[in-house]
Amino acid sequence: KVRVRFAPSPTGGLHLGGVRTVLFNYLFAKKHNGTFVLRIEDTDQNRYVEGAEEYIFECLKWCGLNADESAQVGGPFAPYRQSERKSLYREYAEKLVRQGHAYYAFDTPEELEKQRATVPNFQYGMASRNSLRNSLALPEHEVEQLLQAGTPHVIRIKMPEDETISFTDMIRGHVSFETNQVDDKVLLKADGMPTYHLAVVVDDFLMHISHAFRGEEWLPSAPVHLLLWEYLGWKADMPQWAHLPLILKPDGHGKLSKRDGARLGFPVYAMSWTDPKSGELTPGFRELGFMPEAFNNLLALLGWNDGTDQEIFTLDELAEKFSMDRVSKAGAKFDFEKAKWFNAEWIKRATAERLLGDVKAILADKGLAITDDAQLLKVIELVKDRCVLLTDFYEHSWYFFKQPESYDLNAVKPKWTDAKTEMFKTFIAQLQQAETWEATELETNFKALLTKKGFKIGDAMLPFRIMLVGGKFGPHVFDIAVQLGKAEVIARIEKALA
Ligand code: GLU
Repeated sequence: KVRVRFAPSPTGGLHLGGVRTVLFNYLFAKKHNGTFVLRIEDTDQNRYVEGAEEYIFECLKWCGLNADESAQVGGPFAPYRQSERKSLYREYAEKLVRQGHAYYAFDTPEELEKQRATVPNFQYGMASRNSLRNSLALPEHEVEQLLQAGTPHVIRIKMPEDETISFTDMIRGHVSFETNQVDDKVLLKADGMPTYHLAVVVDDFLMHISHAFRGEEWLPSAPVHLLLWEYLGWKADMPQWAHLPLILKPDGHGKLSKRDGARLGFPVYAMSWTDPKSGELTPGFRELGFMPEAFNNLLALLGWNDGTDQEIFTLDELAEKFSMDRVSKAGAKFDFEKAKWFNAEWIKRATAERLLGDVKAILADKGLAITDDAQLLKVIELVKDRCVLLTDFYEHSWYFFKQPESYDLNAVKPKWTDAKTEMFKTFIAQLQQAETWEATELETNFKALLTKKGFKIGDAMLPFRIMLVGGKFGPHVFDIAVQLGKAEVIARIEKALA
């Protein structure tokens, strides 16, 4: 039975790499009829940030990647928030101490600070542990005394000497580590909270996780986790791991970090995030005007492809086609222009009905409260091929709902003349007589009038557009006229001529 998990720490906004991890988990679960678990890893009280957990849930909801089991919907292995599972972890840490795979360490933060300051490349491990204050170095009775006296202490894993630890990663294949290179990581902190390393192993075991997918940045932690699975006697149940490739800066130089967004001019977070302490706002793809369908689609292709040239995939198609063996181990360059292309494609392909709610909200945000859905649906249909971002709908459609304020007919060459004014007045009279209101017919009549009055088509077409929308933009001008309706078209020509 496939059970996967996304295990974020609620420390701030979600980087697009985080959402890609969610997506790959979700797709893998869907493909194998499995279960997608969301577990909140909030054992590091220092890094906990107010509002970050709500943000994560909201983000998954926006992307349509909701978990089957989580702190929100519950499930058979609740609680799904590690801080609420605190009491569970100590027994495993103690068990490791009894077995000789872990030990108590009493060093104060100041003592460790001093070590770091004086010993070059200080690591708490093989080379140093015998000279520090821990249960491997101190006589047994002294350790007893310290424990009895309630001396603050942590529990550290004892990394074995001269061992090679290896596992098979679903993306990377055979991966191995030398234990001598790895320090004795803290498993249980002085406040009784587990560290990530202990909690992730215990919970993946207790929650029957079959496959664990996470970013490549966690690869160096893998040897610690492998040893814990082994020492706790759970090796047979260890999930299969896949470490997902990094998402790189557009130039391919280094990991795309959250600071890059501001410098490179595009968001790195899925949704905007306001830091509760500093009030600093980091922009997100949602607020910029990305459709979640496009966002999922572009994230899926950061490191994965189906082996063909196909680029546009629905979530269902992705779930059907996704497989870990088509995920590359090389980092994936993030290209914002390409990301926008995906969005434009999705807007083009979306039905007006699908876009209605979003466009309504965007227009309302700009002070245009549209109540006539039928009218808005037609407008969306007319302009959607011109929008790259959902937020572009405002600039491409406001003039359907309010008159342009200024016109610059003189900006249109050749210069405006009284003869042109006369011609447009005749056009108004003609429109007033019109019994039907249809684009081709309007166009034919307008052009016939121009010819009759001795104008070239080009002399009047652009002015007509400017009268209707205020500038040189928009779809076919007679489609705009039809949509505006007879009275409004006449009103706008009159206003422009006045
Ligand atoms: N809590 C870790 C994080 O914030 C999860 C890593 C993992 O999935 O094992 O990314």
